[in-house]
Amino acid sequence: MELESGPLHAAGRQRRRLRRIIARAAGTQYYGAQLRQAGVDPRRFEPHDLGRLPMLDRGIMANHGLDAFLTVDRAGLVSVATSGSTGTPGRFLRSWVEEAAYSALWMRVYAAYGCRPWDAQVNIAITDKPDRKGPLKLLRRAGLLPRIEKLGSDTPAAELLARVQALDPPILTGYAGAIEALADHVLATGAQVRPPRAVFCTAMEVTDRCLELAERAFRAPAVDVYVTNEFGVIAWSCPMRRDVLHLNDDALIVEVLGADGTPAPAGTVGELVVTSLGLTSMPLIRYRMGDMAARLAGTCECGRRLGLMTRVQGRTAHVIRRPNGAPITTPLITSLFGRIDAHEWVRRYQVREEPGQRLRFLLNARRPPSESQRNALTQSVESALGRDFRIAFEYLDEIPMTPSGKLQYLVPLKQ
Ligand SMILES: [Zn+2]
Repeated sequence: MELESGPLHAAGRQRRRLRRIIARAAGTQYYGAQLRQAGVDPRRFEPHDLGRLPMLDRGIMANHGLDAFLTVDRAGLVSVATSGSTGTPGRFLRSWVEEAAYSALWMRVYAAYGCRPWDAQVNIAITDKPDRKGPLKLLRRAGLLPRIEKLGSDTPAAELLARVQALDPPILTGYAGAIEALADHVLATGAQVRPPRAVFCTAMEVTDRCLELAERAFRAPAVDVYVTNEFGVIAWSCPMRRDVLHLNDDALIVEVLGADGTPAPAGTVGELVVTSLGLTSMPLIRYRMGDMAARLAGTCECGRRLGLMTRVQGRTAHVIRRPNGAPITTPLITSLFGRIDAHEWVRRYQVREEPGQRLRFLLNARRPPSESQRNALTQSVESALGRDFRIAFEYLDEIPMTPSGKLQYLVPLKQ
């Protein structure tokens, strides 16, 4: 017998919400045509029918225009823009209620780590991004709640540290690269920072190294939050098992697809394709995130019934492939550095693919390596990649960030 709160019940709720979205979407120019073409009846739509609909990306949306996706008049909707760091910038419209639901996904993460929505916070990201709307944001703006202090991710670490020390926030969030650089600076200088309740690392691949440094520097749990402008928080580290992420699959359906577009088996890294169960003004159905991760089988020992996935392993657009097609991911490279303790002298790295099966490793060293350190790194990298690539190392004073303020670890050849 299945309990009311059991997984079957959750599946039933997910199906009902999906049908509601599909029914609304059927009235739009774009989705209406796609549903007719696929020959599916919105009233009998099942989650596995998603595979019969085409995938969506920013390019398709730009071609059709936003009106082809709207179920309501655009007056009164708020506009959300995403950066175009990896292609076409995106623009999305949604209602205030939908924006509030976006905040609610963050609340769940805060709550799991003992944080409260009204806690003051410092957010290290790009600062020219417009504020998200919502009731809490209004209260913050009115001065009834502490403001979110935004600091630019390109601010020098010493300056960031001084601001964080002065503001003493219970919540510290930021781009993983910026948090890592700040944590590194705190440890290198021996600076004291009062521990926040938790450190939330977002945007791009959050590496083991980033979480480890943040925990040591801030003496607080470091949390990997997979959050996007399109959907809000998609997945976040389990407080009991930091290496796995809980999927917010009561608000989203996340598909992990192999190169042929069919579902990848659990444990196999594939492309993430997301359908929102909450966005009705402008439904997002089978939207390609451009990120890669693997779903994990089973449920979590913490008791949450949410699905599980690995941490994000990289961007589909940033994948460097071996001649046999196997992807080289950021965690692989990070592990090649980690197993010989190269992080002790490598501050940052970037791997660039070059014509003729070559990889150039750009290294930003915190101090010149000894000869044995250099040799150890060469051996570690050669042992994993030397059969497929010719490897070169180059030392730089600075590895440039992308225009959106993030560090890109892997740079494949332009297709
Ligand atoms: Zn868990």
